[in-house]
Amino acid sequence: MTPPVALTIAGSDSSGGAGIQADLKTFAALGVFGTSAVTALTAQNTSGVRGVHPVPAEFVIAQVDAVLDDLPVTAVKTGMLATADVVRAVADLAAAGRLPGLVVDPVMVASSGDPLLEPQAERLYLEALLPQATVITPNVREAEVLLDTSIRTLTEQREAARALGALGPSTVVVKGGHPVTDSADAAVDVVWNDGSVYELRGPRIDTGNNHGTGCTFAAATAAALAMGRDVHGALAGAKNFVSDALAAGAAWRLGQGHGPLDH
Ligand code: PLP
Repeated sequence: MTPPVALTIAGSDSSGGAGIQADLKTFAALGVFGTSAVTALTAQNTSGVRGVHPVPAEFVIAQVDAVLDDLPVTAVKTGMLATADVVRAVADLAAAGRLPGLVVDPVMVASSGDPLLEPQAERLYLEALLPQATVITPNVREAEVLLDTSIRTLTEQREAARALGALGPSTVVVKGGHPVTDSADAAVDVVWNDGSVYELRGPRIDTGNNHGTGCTFAAATAAALAMGRDVHGALAGAKNFVSDALAAGAAWRLGQGHGPLDH
């Protein structure tokens, strides 16, 4: 049978745990045919990012156009966009109505702490791209940068989801997975949708093998949207997919640093 098609617009992670590699593995695992537009090459492994080589915005658009002109894409995920020019180019494509089921993961920093976005692009995310998304999936740290605030409690995490919702996206997920707002036994994501707020709870899995968690959550959400699921079902499915992948890879040893999850 012909599968649904999703597109990832994201950076390449040479170590295979995050970025387009994680996205394409996630799409495949969920039965969705994956296509990609690469925004940057990274030279990295589980210990850190050694170099970033951004792709010019015109060539990112050329990749997206080539895919969209030919294949029936029903959902799009963005990850590392690297430069302000690429954020602007993707926002322009969204404004032209070319990016259906748009899941925006505002990637700013790698799990190793290395920057993955030009600082001047943060404002463009706020003004141009996030308002046009179907779903945005910042983690607590990214929400802090976007809102210029600090998030220390679940109440503040819920307030951040509301504040980001006021910008215009249909749905916001402020992801926990972080000791500050998670409880000892639960990883708590806060969802804002059309004015109401609720929590998505999963088991807190104690493992250093978490490289690619954010990419995988956003890609699994886009895969479910591509399959025609509604946003609540898509997010619940993505949360389960990530919990299962973290649990499956919790004990393996791949690399010297933060290893990948098992997609
Ligand atoms: N995209 C790329 C290309 C990356 O290298 C990384 C992290 O290293 C990310 C996105 C974000 O990864 P995570 O899913 O761990 O937040």
